[in-house]
Order: sequence, then structure tokens, then C-alpha cells
Amino acid sequence: MKIHINNKRGFTFTVIVTVATILILLVLLLRNNVMVHCNNLDVKSGPNVSYQTTGKINAGTRVQILNHQDNWDHVVYNHSKIGWVPDWVIRNKNLKTATKLSESTIVLDPGHGGSDSGALSTHNKMEKTYTLQTAKKAAQQLREQGANVIMTRDTDKTVSLFSRPGFSTKNNANLFISFHFDSSPDDNTASGFTSYYYHDGRSKQLATDINNQMDNIPIDNRGVEFGNFLVVRDVKVPSVLLEMGYINSDKDFKHIENPEYQELVAKDVKHGVTDYINSIY
Ligand SMILES: [Zn+2]
Repeated sequence: MKIHINNKRGFTFTVIVTVATILILLVLLLRNNVMVHCNNLDVKSGPNVSYQTTGKINAGTRVQILNHQDNWDHVVYNHSKIGWVPDWVIRNKNLKTATKLSESTIVLDPGHGGSDSGALSTHNKMEKTYTLQTAKKAAQQLREQGANVIMTRDTDKTVSLFSRPGFSTKNNANLFISFHFDSSPDDNTASGFTSYYYHDGRSKQLATDINNQMDNIPIDNRGVEFGNFLVVRDVKVPSVLLEMGYINSDKDFKHIENPEYQELVAKDVKHGVTDYINSIY
């Protein structure tokens, strides 16, 4: 009789443990199971758009996440295929078609901020205000295409100059763009925009690709120039610094403060970055 009770208890215990194990496994399985919502997503051999493409995933495909590194997921898809996909893309429910731009990580650096006002207009308007407004518009343009955009600041706060290049290494970024407005020693003596690079090769190409898109900007194009600026010099990824007009030129400032001008710059940056990424990867 005693043995019978023990057997019954033992059986109940086994059933509870089995059901609990199955439930835990199911939760773990579902938590790491993601449905992809976009078409044409590249599967890469490593955690960056720079790696070789080994396959494609289309909308409706379920992926099982095995591992995570640098914002990329190592996944199993179509039952047995394995590769890397960007985590921000597989979690994006609005993106229809993935592109190389969607698979890229871009750092945008609005110059100055907080206690550092940057240069001043002839009516003491501060450069830091317009670098942030313009960079935010560029961020929106790039995010609409699915890109992973990191900003060195998205509010009016102080960010040390020395810490800015590090945002690109920390986030495994593909490129870095710093936004500024120029200033001449005397008011109203210079005008125009310039795209600066420090490193030859990819940085120069990025500066050229962005500058080539800017033929619709209503102020003079001073072209692509070498510039010894810390943020483009001490950065490990291709980088440019855009001086989008002279803030102490009344003629340029009337554009700089205009949201339509900022939107135009933002769109040109998006197109230039797209050209660059498509030619590199
Ligand atoms: Zn500046």
C-alpha cells in the first residue's frame, strides 16, 4: 500500500518536471525565433555588412537566433542554413526591402553642444543649434531606409571632442559624419559649403560621393578638401566633416536656419552615403 502511494507520487512528480521542461524549452525557442518582415535581406558570413553575402532572406521567413555580436544575430534559417543578419533589420516591421544601406551602421556627429556653442552668427545664433537640427534630419532620412544610426548627441548636451571618434569603434560602425558650419575671421567675408576628409582612400571617396550629391544646395560648393580636424583624423572608420555654410555670413545663415535647407542637406547626405556604400560593399 505504501509502495503504491510512493509510485503515484513519483509518477506525478515526473509528469510535472516533464511538462515544466517542455514549457521552458518552448519559451526559449519562441523568444529566439523572429519573423523577418522585409524582402531581399542579405545573409553575411560575419557580423557586418562588409562580410561576404552567403544567402538571402525574404519577408515571412522565420529565423532562429543562436548568438549575438555587435548588433548582429547569428541565425539558422530555412531549416539548416546559417549566417549573420543585422538585428535592427530583422526587428524592423516597417522596412519593405532591405538594401546595403539598411544593413549599415552610421555614426552622425552634430558638432559642439551644451557648454560649447560653436561659432556664432552675426546675431549671436549658435552653431550647435543648427548642427543638431541638420544631423537629426539626416538621421531620420537614413533610418527610414532601415540604417542603424547612432548619434554622438541628440540633445543640447556637452560631448567631449575626444570621445566622439570612439562612437564608431564602440558601435562597429561603417562610417562617421560630423556636421558643422564654418566661420570666417570677419563677418560676411566668406560663403559656401565644404566636404572635408583627413584620410585618403575611403574617407576621401565618402566626402566626394556626398559632395557630388550637393549640386542642389543654394550656396556655393567649395568642393572636397583635406582638413586636419580631430573627429575625422582620430577615427578608425571612413569619416567626413561637412561645413554646410558660413554661419557668420548673413547670406548663408538665412539658409542654415531654414528647415528646408537642412532637409535638402539631409537628403543629399543620404544619397551620397548610399552611393558610397553601394560602391564599397
Ligand atoms: Zn563647428
